[in-house]
Amino acid sequence: MTPPERPRLAVVGAGPAGLAAALAAADRHVDVTLIDSAPQAGGQFYRQPADEFGARRPGALHHQWRTWERLRDGLARHTVTGHIRHLTDHHVWFVERESAASYVVHALLGPEQERPATVRAAGVLIATGGYEQVLPFPGWTLPGVVTAGGAQAMLKGGLVLPGRTAVVAGTGPLLMPVAVGLAAAGAKVAALVESADPHAFARRAPALAVHPGKLAEGARYAAELLRHRVPVTVRHAVVAAEGDGRLEAVVVAALDGDGRVRPGTERRIPCDTLAVGHGMLPHTDLAEALGCRIDGPAVYADDEQRTDVPGVWAAGETTGIGGAALSLAEGRIAGLSAAARLNGRTPDTRSWAAAARTRAGLRRFFATVEAPYTPPAHWAEQLADDTVVCRCEEVPAGAVREAVDHLGAGDVRTVKLLTRAGMGWCQGRMCGPAVAALAGCEPCPARRPFARPVPLGVLARAGEDAGADS
Ligand SMILES: Cc1cc2nc3c(=O)[nH]c(=O)nc-3n(C[C@H](O)[C@H](O)[C@H](O)COP(=O)(O)OP(=O)(O)OC[C@H]3O[C@@H](n4cnc5c(N)ncnc54)[C@H](O)[C@@H]3O)c2cc1C
Repeated sequence: MTPPERPRLAVVGAGPAGLAAALAAADRHVDVTLIDSAPQAGGQFYRQPADEFGARRPGALHHQWRTWERLRDGLARHTVTGHIRHLTDHHVWFVERESAASYVVHALLGPEQERPATVRAAGVLIATGGYEQVLPFPGWTLPGVVTAGGAQAMLKGGLVLPGRTAVVAGTGPLLMPVAVGLAAAGAKVAALVESADPHAFARRAPALAVHPGKLAEGARYAAELLRHRVPVTVRHAVVAAEGDGRLEAVVVAALDGDGRVRPGTERRIPCDTLAVGHGMLPHTDLAEALGCRIDGPAVYADDEQRTDVPGVWAAGETTGIGGAALSLAEGRIAGLSAAARLNGRTPDTRSWAAAARTRAGLRRFFATVEAPYTPPAHWAEQLADDTVVCRCEEVPAGAVREAVDHLGAGDVRTVKLLTRAGMGWCQGRMCGPAVAALAGCEPCPARRPFARPVPLGVLARAGEDAGADS
């Protein structure tokens, strides 16, 4: 008797969540197509250098390398058996529900992103991770100012340093690994400038103490910062980046208890790189376009990591920011659930009991550390009118304020129509939170129809191409 055909699952995103999901599903009678825009699997946390760089010790830039080896080897094993097909350089711009049991994933191929490709599957698992939030300040558009994660990506993926002397600034748990990574690779890290108040963590000590593993991780980074002699300044923020055509220095200042800059505390730090980030936000575009429920900034998922759209799962930072270990746990649960459901079975929740415990613990941990790591409360009030907020359309803060104060805009969409803020290439991904804060509005889901810019020719041929699977 021939075995029953394996159902097909499309997993979008080959980071920790997508890889864990793909392996769990492929182990349990599912054929997985793993689709990612990057040339290598690994996502942000396990970002790999291109083979042609011939990195002799790629593990040196990473933490938890054993976990990566397990994921990498599992992917290789399933690729050989044909139960996972890994499509690299595929930028997914839309996922379409064709029928109750069929989805079409639309992607653009290659660096030019002009060749269309489609993947059909009975279920879709969205594991597209998150992206960094950067709030504007005078000079933030100067060459030499990069996002904290961008600096890390240059190091891990390109094996290059963004500069010789760096300041790492903003807020969030990502700043420490970035500062340590840059220092270990040979950059002089002139300062790590964190706006959070350490007392806020001390007040949460009892809740944090139940996660000794995470505290030990933090202590390891602190010891590394000490070893590399990186000066750490807390309750401070970068108030300006200065330079003639390129970054030459940053100005940092102390914050008071309300998060306002304390006048007279400004200090200039010479540097050629500023790696700055103010936390992360989940990628929700593909889920939004599918009509999935969005809770706050993240995609809703139930205990099985199912969204509220039948046949669509979501795992990892697309469902909320919480680090690579949480993404792994959620990915495993999502993959096990998808495998059972697509094979017509009710999942046995005991199969993911350990992952569920990890998930619950890490979600509690991140809920505890989230509040102290929010950007300074009054940053928007202190932004000068001539500071560019939307860098794609070059819209200054003053134009946003004018739209609200004099032209009657009461929401982000009207601000966009009146000022063009958020209408450019990034479609508000970069400036959305800043524009919302300046306008005094709650950030809301953008409801962008497509997750990526799509050439008109591809859209025009979408009907014909939908038949041809990649
Ligand atoms: C730039 C950056 C750098 C980071 N560096 C660190 C670090 O050094 N240390 C640390 O502890 N944490 C770091 N983090 C956080 C950490 O990466 C995450 O906690 C973890 O990787 C999340 O795993 P994930 O699988 O949910 O998502 P990710 O690892 O982000 O994986 C998502 C994958 O989806 C792919 N993708 C997204 N959208 C699409 C699309 N439309 N089409 C096709 N593919 C798509 C991406 O290419 C990516 O490979 C970083 C995050 C970012 C954004």
